[in-house]
Amino acid sequence: MTGQITNSVKLSIVAPCYNEEKCLDTLHARVSAVAQAVAGDDHEIVLINDGSKDATWAALQRLAAADPHVTAINLSRNHGHQLALTAGLDLARGEHILVIDADLQDPPELLPDMLATMTREDADVVYAVRRVRAGESVAKRATAALFYRLLAALTDTSIPLDTGDFRLMTRRALDTFLALPEQARFIRGMVAWIGFRQVPFAYDRDARLAGETNYPFAKMLRLALDAITGFSTAPLRFASHAAVFLTAMSLLLMAYIGFGFLTGRAVQGWTSTMLVVVGLGAVQMFVLGLIGEYLGRLYVEVKRRPLYIVSDVIGGSREGSRLGH
Ligand code: UDP
Ligand code: MG
Repeated sequence: MTGQITNSVKLSIVAPCYNEEKCLDTLHARVSAVAQAVAGDDHEIVLINDGSKDATWAALQRLAAADPHVTAINLSRNHGHQLALTAGLDLARGEHILVIDADLQDPPELLPDMLATMTREDADVVYAVRRVRAGESVAKRATAALFYRLLAALTDTSIPLDTGDFRLMTRRALDTFLALPEQARFIRGMVAWIGFRQVPFAYDRDARLAGETNYPFAKMLRLALDAITGFSTAPLRFASHAAVFLTAMSLLLMAYIGFGFLTGRAVQGWTSTMLVVVGLGAVQMFVLGLIGEYLGRLYVEVKRRPLYIVSDVIGGSREGSRLGH
């Protein structure tokens, strides 16, 4: 999956396409122009058809036949944006890889500036941060803003705010990313997780060229859940915190119940019933919290992410080796 890149090229541009037939000609024209300017003939354009219902695949085949730089990939069915992008990234051979949306919301013309930033900052990832989002509804912008902030509060990985998948990566960053085997993929979070030097690049997001958003609320919610469950076990820990709180409360209640019993103000049977309810409630919460702690660790294990990622090795036989996991 990673590493053995034969006949690599200088630049890969990767775009997942779902029902984008109206955008593809413009996408190809604009992306080609930029790629030619930056890398000459030494580039490839990897376009993935994610089980589109329209003529996207026919258009991709046509583009691939007309332009030898185009690699067109057809997925067996709609796998969703993140998996379609992963398929394209798996096949990309570039030393630098640009990820872009097919609907041209992310202007490909920013690539030279992103490359300059990468060189100047000696970075492995240059991620584009949305300054303005044209043509998107208030509801979409508000839910997106809320989501990124909730995610930041819940996770230890610092995932940049208001950042999509529009980013430029080096080969080693991409190889490292591809070594993460998890099924539920939140790519912008996973790329943040791999580390190395990652720098932001502010831009204004354009409106979609044609067609409609393929991220209706249900898909956004799923992505949000993948992001939160993939990068945080905080929700599981909720039971532990509730247990601590409830145990403290039930101790107070027990004192009150005991006081009622001793002063003879309690109804017959109330004391024992209340003690059982309160005591068992706290114990149950505690056990649930315990299970949550284990389940959270089990979940992290099951993902089988690489344990660490080496940035550079100096001295010894592996000198210059930039990737080791
Ligand atoms: N996309 C995809 N599979 C899907 C949904 C979307 O490959 O199931 C692609 C889509 O063609 C586009 C990118 O993912 O290139 C982002 O989707 P979209 O523009 O619909 O999302 P938005 O920009 O509205 O968040
Ligand atoms: Mg879009």
